[in-house]
Amino acid sequence: MEVITSFTIDHSVLKPGIYVSREDEGFITFDLRITEPNKEPWVDPTAMHTLEHLMATWFRNRETVKEDVVYVGPMGCMTGMYVIMKTSALHPQWTAQQMRELTIECLQWIVQQQEVPATTPETCGNCLYHNLPLAHYWASLYCDRLCNDFHSEYTKLEVILDNGMRFQDA
Ligand SMILES: [Zn+2]
Repeated sequence: MEVITSFTIDHSVLKPGIYVSREDEGFITFDLRITEPNKEPWVDPTAMHTLEHLMATWFRNRETVKEDVVYVGPMGCMTGMYVIMKTSALHPQWTAQQMRELTIECLQWIVQQQEVPATTPETCGNCLYHNLPLAHYWASLYCDRLCNDFHSEYTKLEVILDNGMRFQDA
């Protein structure tokens, strides 16, 4: 296998913010980084699950945006969320700044919610695995960060595994 020269992100200096993780033909994957990897506590999986339900609900109901939302889901490392948007006639491009404004709006809605949507055995694969108070905590903190200390530029790091394969956290 040929060694592929690839650049991936340096998690040791990654700050909470919103980053373009990948750009594919017609699709843009955003890294909604909630907490600082390996330095701050990760988001408890129960709270992350709740954030996933609430964020997905909001994005898929938000007028002018909902048609372009492909996917909302947590990172395995529990430090952030991926949101995949497709480009369209209305939105030929998506930027981190656009996602910042949408996510702030979403988080402000989340902290007002007193129920988690879709938490029955029919609608969720682990319907007791939720934590709304902790989801509120992270939503509030992340919202403050996006408003006051916004980061959107990755620091790149070259990572090539011994077998020549490239590694990417997505
Ligand atoms: Zn669920």
